[in-house]
Amino acid sequence: MIKVHFLLAAALLLAGCASTPAPSAPPAWSIAVHGGAGVISRAQMTPEREAAYRTAMAGATARGADVLAKGGTAMDAVEAVARVLEDDPLFNAGRGAAIGADGTVTLDAAIMDGATLKAGAVAGVTTTRNPITLARAVMERTRHVFLIGEGADTFAREQGLPQVPNTYFITARRWGILEEVLTEDKLPFPLRPPGLTDGPIGPIAQAGGAEARFGTIGVVARDSAGRLAAATSTGGLTGKRWGRVGDAPVIGAGTYADQSCAVSATGTGEFFLRLVVAHSICTEAAKPGVRLQAAADRVIKGRLTAIQGDGGVIAMNAAGEAVWSLNTEGMYRAKASAAAPTPRVFIFADEEGGAGMQSAARPH
Ligand code: ASP
Repeated sequence: MIKVHFLLAAALLLAGCASTPAPSAPPAWSIAVHGGAGVISRAQMTPEREAAYRTAMAGATARGADVLAKGGTAMDAVEAVARVLEDDPLFNAGRGAAIGADGTVTLDAAIMDGATLKAGAVAGVTTTRNPITLARAVMERTRHVFLIGEGADTFAREQGLPQVPNTYFITARRWGILEEVLTEDKLPFPLRPPGLTDGPIGPIAQAGGAEARFGTIGVVARDSAGRLAAATSTGGLTGKRWGRVGDAPVIGAGTYADQSCAVSATGTGEFFLRLVVAHSICTEAAKPGVRLQAAADRVIKGRLTAIQGDGGVIAMNAAGEAVWSLNTEGMYRAKASAAAPTPRVFIFADEEGGAGMQSAARPH
């Protein structure tokens, strides 16, 4: 009997220790970043390309980690990371974005502050260098949420946000991909802008290949005050027409954040729009007993796969737990946190967070 009492007391003591956080534990910041999902196979990936993507993802994540480690807000962190990736021609956002069938780049972006449920979004932007900053300006300096096209660029100019000619966004690599897609779609080639370059990205410039069709970028973060934010930025799908807009700038579809959940998505936007993917994951995760990983998997590996959609998400909960879920061969992704501040980068589906390859719809 004495023995039983002793065991019971020990168990209670242990349980008590496990549930009581150490009083001196620092407030935990956390960040996760994606750089697009799709057909990113080991067979196609040269060591140079892989190294370039890993370096770029680590550098961008470190930038956000730096903001958060210094006590910056989740909003500041997600914007800072998105800007770095928008300026990097490796990714389908800002410079190096996917090009439309008419030979112009039209950019979409959204940002959401989970603490206030405020959001800003833009679509079809053609001259504003950093669409994510424009999305934030929409959120903070207008009474609107979503601006499109010429009006969005006009607002950017009025706000003094840097403007560039549309050709600034166009790289030789993306032009090559556009020609591939237009050939498949039996559409004529638009006039190639003269003097296209890709910047200092070495052999990737000549790589072409399926993996180069991807690269939408997204960020979710929790700051040390416990606020969550999400941001997504993209050029959309190569060869898009008719003013097509995907999920990325649509609040609830490609981007969403509230007080307990933040999500950024990448993949064929038409499917993500129909499933309202980002918000659906947060709704699942809010159900009693459902972990964020299970919520993300239910929506991506379950519902998205069921309608033959392809892509992935990064998601974060109020505790700063970062998860991802994808049904493609790969997704450029990285994370860092107060507990593990050095960014860890993953590319292939089987690297971490175990994601099966369940669909291989047309690359974009
Ligand atoms: N989701 C983006 C879109 O449909 C593209 C992507 O993530 O690759 O516009």
